[in-house]
Amino acid sequence: MTSLAHFEALAGSIQLPGKAIIDGKVRSAVSGKTFDNISPRDGRIINQVAECDASDVDSAVAAARRAFEDGTWRNMHYRDKKRVLFKLADLMDRDREQLAVLESLDVGKPIRNALGGDVPQSAKCLRYYAEALDKVYGEVGPETQDRFSFAVHEPLGVIGAIVPWNFPLLMAMWKVAPALAMGNSMVLKPAEQSPLTALRLGELALEAGLPPGVLNVVPGFGGTAGKALGLHMDVDMLAFTGSGPVGKLLMQYSGQSNLKRVSLELGGKSPHIIFDDCPDLKRAAKEAAWGIFYNSGQVCTAGSRLLVQNGIADQFLDELLKVARTIQVGDPLAPQTTSGSMVSAAQMNTALRYIESAKKEGASLALGGHRTRTETGGFYVEPTVFDQVTPQHTIAREEVFGPVLAVTRFKTAEDAIRIANDTVYGLAAGLWTRDITLAHRTAREIKAGLVWINGWDSCDITMPFGGFKQSGFGRDRSLHALHKYADLKAISITLG
Ligand code: NAD
Repeated sequence: MTSLAHFEALAGSIQLPGKAIIDGKVRSAVSGKTFDNISPRDGRIINQVAECDASDVDSAVAAARRAFEDGTWRNMHYRDKKRVLFKLADLMDRDREQLAVLESLDVGKPIRNALGGDVPQSAKCLRYYAEALDKVYGEVGPETQDRFSFAVHEPLGVIGAIVPWNFPLLMAMWKVAPALAMGNSMVLKPAEQSPLTALRLGELALEAGLPPGVLNVVPGFGGTAGKALGLHMDVDMLAFTGSGPVGKLLMQYSGQSNLKRVSLELGGKSPHIIFDDCPDLKRAAKEAAWGIFYNSGQVCTAGSRLLVQNGIADQFLDELLKVARTIQVGDPLAPQTTSGSMVSAAQMNTALRYIESAKKEGASLALGGHRTRTETGGFYVEPTVFDQVTPQHTIAREEVFGPVLAVTRFKTAEDAIRIANDTVYGLAAGLWTRDITLAHRTAREIKAGLVWINGWDSCDITMPFGGFKQSGFGRDRSLHALHKYADLKAISITLG
């Protein structure tokens, strides 16, 4: 990989996108207002971004509706739809370094992850749904002499996508790709912390030949632009990734407006269980460490609760700490950096508050625990590990969304399952054992949408992603996500 100087030069040369994309045009907000976009890398303002509000959302929804009703995209031959989506993926490949730098600047993500993960995975996701769009078949009903009945999948109409800042491009793409593949139009609202790659995606989509109005991007704040989208009478569905409280608000907005569908992906407090007969301690320790410290812990599936069986707990923790000590917290644009900054001062302070609460409540600090690289002006927190955490401690119950691991020891498999399920969340879980029966029983008993055995985060775009309980409902990824953006229509022809 190239050098820090290379990525800094690129960052200096890119025209940072800051305007909304509505009806195929790159526009300022109707109010003319902009907001400061701050890079958490050094706390500096990097550009001004259009502060869209309800009137911009109105224009974007109207454009999306017109584009949907005129049918140019919806009724386009599947061969041509595929061509446009593949072209967009090719443009993302062409601009991968630029997109990676935008992401890294905007959220403090290590450039190696943006370049090796977020950007190629987003292009891959788009190609997956482009490939899938001509493999969606309807159903033919039971035959009778005088009737022919069939069911077809129809696009829903206008989809409002509200996305978070932890994987800005990828979370947007998990919604944009299947929704567009199904023939819908969209209004995408990126998080206020991370508008850059969504705006560039909107520009690239136009370059790829997506008809104007099919993908609109409205940067702005949640309480204004997001709320307006949530309450809009002409939005057919909200696809959301973010926090639980906002997820609950979106369901209220739906009830207060037009009963639009809502799909929610809302974080978690995922348990990572290591049984005494763990088949590969070193690999498990590495995956447990990266399962929490990747992206500075700002991952909805972060393995933030490590449950270790008593027999190997000390040895396992030693191995895990060895891995954690190799993590290089550094400049996000430096290729050797493996852990960048947190997304904002607010998110850093939240993590630091949780660290203080853990100390006060009696957990034992085994690593880290402080802000670091303060001299840069950026928002960095050390990888932090607490041992002797009880299931009642705040850091075992609440989503920190930072680089903070809570280690709890357990005696029996029943204890592990009970502790694992003792949470309002149910997004992901991992477990390590040689015992196939124990693995299978535990996987089935854990209330979570994703369970990984002898590995962490081992599924890809081909498998459904989403939560049980207060981690939300509705699935991203896989062919299930395509059907989420469609309705079933039964058509019956009376014969003769
Ligand atoms: P958030 O839920 O407030 O923001 C996510 C998105 O929702 C953003 O686009 C935001 O503008 C929008 N939003 C906020 N208020 C809204 C409203 N009233 N109506 C419509 N849209 C609204 O998340 P956050 O404040 O950025 O982060 C807070 C916590 O959320 C984190 O600490 C973490 O626990 C959780 N989170 C989870 C994920 C995830 O992947 N599940 C991602 C980011 C944050």
